[in-house]
Amino acid sequence: MVLAQLGGSITRALAKMSNDTVIDEKVFGDCLNDITRALLQADVQFKMVCDLQSNIKRVVNLEALAAGTNKRGIIKQAVFSELCNMLDPGKPSFSPKKGNPCVVMFVGLQGSGKTTTCTKYAYYHQRKGFKPALVCADTFRAGAFDQLKQNATKAKIPFYGSYLESDPVKIAVEGVERFEKENYDLIILDTSGRHKQEAALFEEMRQISEATQPDLVIFVMDSSIGQAAFDQAQAFKQSVSVGAVIVTKMDGHAKGGGALSSVAATKSPVIFTGTGEHIDEFEVFDVKPFVSRLLGMGDWSGFMNKIHEVVPADQQPEFLQKLNQKIFTLRLMYEQFQNIRNMGPISQVLSMLRGFRAELMPQGHEQESQAKIKRYMTIMDSMTDAELDSPNLKFMNESRIIRIARGSGRPVRDVLDMLEEYKRLAKICISMSNIKPHKKGDKRPV
Ligand code: GDP
Repeated sequence: MVLAQLGGSITRALAKMSNDTVIDEKVFGDCLNDITRALLQADVQFKMVCDLQSNIKRVVNLEALAAGTNKRGIIKQAVFSELCNMLDPGKPSFSPKKGNPCVVMFVGLQGSGKTTTCTKYAYYHQRKGFKPALVCADTFRAGAFDQLKQNATKAKIPFYGSYLESDPVKIAVEGVERFEKENYDLIILDTSGRHKQEAALFEEMRQISEATQPDLVIFVMDSSIGQAAFDQAQAFKQSVSVGAVIVTKMDGHAKGGGALSSVAATKSPVIFTGTGEHIDEFEVFDVKPFVSRLLGMGDWSGFMNKIHEVVPADQQPEFLQKLNQKIFTLRLMYEQFQNIRNMGPISQVLSMLRGFRAELMPQGHEQESQAKIKRYMTIMDSMTDAELDSPNLKFMNESRIIRIARGSGRPVRDVLDMLEEYKRLAKICISMSNIKPHKKGDKRPV
């Protein structure tokens, strides 16, 4: 993901302190400077970076800390909290409720990914049991209605629009009225964008908003926008009451930090991120798991949410119990791979786990990762039950490896690769514990 580099730089800045025997003002100052530089290089707005730096300085008062205190831990915690604060506007956005009709209006510049994101948002909620419908109020861009129609048809979501009507306000009102009458509970309005901010765009948005009274206005922002992000987000906020942000193209090569500035500019939370062109390359954005992931601390809650989404409820306790047994067999790895392959875009799932990302799933190589997992599973298909169920690899001698390679039609090197992967995943899984099955009524993101 685009922010991986930023995460890497911050993590390195924090790790550098481990080499110092004494944590004094100089070491702390150097660490803060490295973090500041990393944030600025990632295009986070200058003022936000300065605020973050002074907040960390205020929280970490080295002189006041007693000898023997874990200063590194306190600094790391302060960095974590301040990054969370930077991304958390302190108030949740409106979230649709099943059966309660609501209108959600999407705004953003042309090319930001607005139309694609409207369908992703509709599809996401449809899978959660909502009855979404899409209205194309973009009469500015030729082909906008066709695009929405095509996306909506693929996702089997009803849509409304017109080739003839040129007044976007009229289309928006008609579409909302029609779907309200038909008892749709999530009516999504796609509005037009422009290549750059201009008065006509803002006036049109304002009129549509006034005529349809949306319950939520979502600002869609391309993650590659850079330092211009803050001003752009603020300009939209000043014209319509933006209540949430979706940052798109997080799978690209942009630095991404600029988009994070949109939180401060709109005082609204990022609720989802777009991680690809495909309809389900769309992730719920939660601040703490995001920052954990950014700092290479893993994101169990995100992983567990994915599991709750795809593993049938009656199989969850057994699945989690296995994970908690602290015995990681090759069979369990095989089952994890099966689950992972069912969980949709593999990168989304694996990137949530510390350690999986770098080797098993290098960015932009999802297809290769899929192929690799398939290869490993083919190799494991040639193993005996005893081999699959053994809690370790002590039995795995040369003749067995050659037999497995022959049986699976793969070179010995591939078998060794798979076993190395197993050792690495076993280490990660065994280090995890206390994962509880999801209980009815537990809070989960919408
Ligand atoms: P709009 O003009 O704002 O409605 O933008 P579109 O929805 O037409 O998207 C512009 C381009 O960005 C299209 O080619 C989309 O497929 C692409 N796009 C949208 N979201 C994402 C994303 O999250 N990742 C990637 N890689 N491409 C995206």
